[in-house]
Amino acid sequence: MAATAESVLKPDFGAARKHFIFTDEHEQLRESIRNFATKELAPHAEEWEETTFPDSVFTRMGELGFLGLDKPEAYGGQGGDYYSALVLAEEITNANSGGLAMGVAVHTDMAMPPILAFGSEEQKQEWVVPAIKGEKILCLGITEPDAGSDVSGIKTRAVKDGDDYIINGSKTYITNGHRADVIVLVTKTDVDAGYDGFTLFLVPMDAPGVIREKKLEKLGMHASDTALLAFQDVRVPASAVLGQVGKGFYHIMWELQGERLIGAAGMVAGSQKCFERTLQYAHERKAFGREIGKFQVIRHKFAEMATKIEGARQMTYMTAWRFANGEYPVREISMAKLVASRVLCEVADECIQIHGGAGTDEIMLDVIGRSYGL
Ligand SMILES: Cc1cc2nc3c(=O)[nH]c(=O)nc-3n(C[C@H](O)[C@H](O)[C@H](O)COP(=O)(O)OP(=O)(O)OC[C@H]3O[C@@H](n4cnc5c(N)ncnc54)[C@H](O)[C@@H]3O)c2cc1C
Repeated sequence: MAATAESVLKPDFGAARKHFIFTDEHEQLRESIRNFATKELAPHAEEWEETTFPDSVFTRMGELGFLGLDKPEAYGGQGGDYYSALVLAEEITNANSGGLAMGVAVHTDMAMPPILAFGSEEQKQEWVVPAIKGEKILCLGITEPDAGSDVSGIKTRAVKDGDDYIINGSKTYITNGHRADVIVLVTKTDVDAGYDGFTLFLVPMDAPGVIREKKLEKLGMHASDTALLAFQDVRVPASAVLGQVGKGFYHIMWELQGERLIGAAGMVAGSQKCFERTLQYAHERKAFGREIGKFQVIRHKFAEMATKIEGARQMTYMTAWRFANGEYPVREISMAKLVASRVLCEVADECIQIHGGAGTDEIMLDVIGRSYGL
């Protein structure tokens, strides 16, 4: 808005303004996911941290149409754009359960996209259609006990045997690994072909030889199930190959890009939630006769956090806009995920600090500062 002699411009801090990538439809979607997460999921968050969240969350979300927001209508999806998947990633944080958000995101934004992008019509009908309804649950198997960051170091082998393949190996840290009906499995089919020696398979989790070995304990996100899996002479037909034989590495690298942006959006939203909850606390909690938020040190912490969150959000949205418009901005996607995850850790740490509880750095800093006569 331009200033004129007649007008007095005042900052509109309270204005609710949507980002340009979002339409009114996205905002309506945002509200309905938020209502659902707040009313139907959040009340169980603590219990599910003990028990893991139930499979019925998938069926309920399927009923509501939330598992196929950006998936084609031909397979039961809503036919929305990529931004609608970002809206889900952001609003599901209102479930107050990082583990639940991760379990859902693995299903919708990690395992499902490669089936839609590279799968045969039969594979889409068999797995994507019921997955969008929440009747079948998906997981994705890349990581192995001896190969994490170094995806090319995986050892799970798929060896051709007549018209079939025989799979042997193990996968670890597999989200939804205990509950899933099918796994998008990364294997090596040709050990001498370098990056051209990988192949993806869709392996039903009830196939003989698939062993759900162990539920893994984690430091947090206990609501999600994280599995160690073994594959012992698992026989699958050639029709279980997902995409092209020998192109699995490239297929999975493509999948990681969409997943990383969804992760970034979720982390920005999680940071915002920490911020808002702590802001409320800073208004309520009093020390030395005033709200703790009125101390300049604490006020500046909020200013720092808000600025970092906004920076991460803008980077995520801008990169999502490029991705949704047909670009493949791998560098910026990595930047967005890096920044969003760092901001989330910093904000969570700062928010815990503001909540105090057991000895606060601010008081120590104040004692030290005053000791210099300041
Ligand atoms: C909660 C949770 C859920 C997960 N869900 C899934 C899932 O559903 N499916 C799946 O396949 N995987 C999943 N993972 C696995 C995740 O993708 C891996 O943990 C990740 O790829 C890192 O692998 P790693 O843990 O083996 O670490 P490593 O690769 O062993 O790395 C160990 C350390 O070394 C560093 N490092 C490694 N290589 C280099 C290098 N070249 N240069 C410098 N430093 C390096 C790493 O940054 C890290 O700090 C999940 C993990 C967690 C924690």
